[in-house]
Amino acid sequence: MTAFTLHLKDKVSSIDRPYFDKDGIGPVAGRVVNLLKGYLGPIIEINKTFTKVDVRWSPDNWAPALLDTDVIVYVVANANTSVIAASGGTVARAIADTNILGITDLNSKICEVYFDRCFQGSPKELAGAAYHEAAHIKSNMDDTLHNGQDGFLKGSPDYNGSPSKKNAAFMALHLGKKVNLRSGL
Ligand SMILES: [Zn+2]
Repeated sequence: MTAFTLHLKDKVSSIDRPYFDKDGIGPVAGRVVNLLKGYLGPIIEINKTFTKVDVRWSPDNWAPALLDTDVIVYVVANANTSVIAASGGTVARAIADTNILGITDLNSKICEVYFDRCFQGSPKELAGAAYHEAAHIKSNMDDTLHNGQDGFLKGSPDYNGSPSKKNAAFMALHLGKKVNLRSGL
């Protein structure tokens, strides 16, 4: 049994977040996980290296042991609490453009999505943005990834609906790549 695991690390719940509702991130986490499991399933139908997909939501103080093919996406409160920036990278593009839901820094090998921009009564944007950033880190491609893509992998995607067949084929091509991400950030 070889699993591809996408980890979502919750950097939101541990900080003060007066602009979030009283229930915080909890109610949305399970729905995001289930959406992503559904999105990733078709990929391993194509890439038979993996026999299952797993999606895990983990708290900030937990550093999961990662396989070299696993992906971790940090769920941060907003662009000002960026893990990428804290690790020496820049998210100036995201600070300048509030339509950007997530950023992947290919140099520091960090994916993050911005909770304040994603969650508007639905977990679909958060799940979709995590899928999109996972594609960037797996393919090691910057915005050139968007060229010729549709669905969840084009530029400025609409994350209602589901990833397209073309998206799944692209992900399947790159899913086995060893990315050796760090989990303790
Ligand atoms: Zn992109």
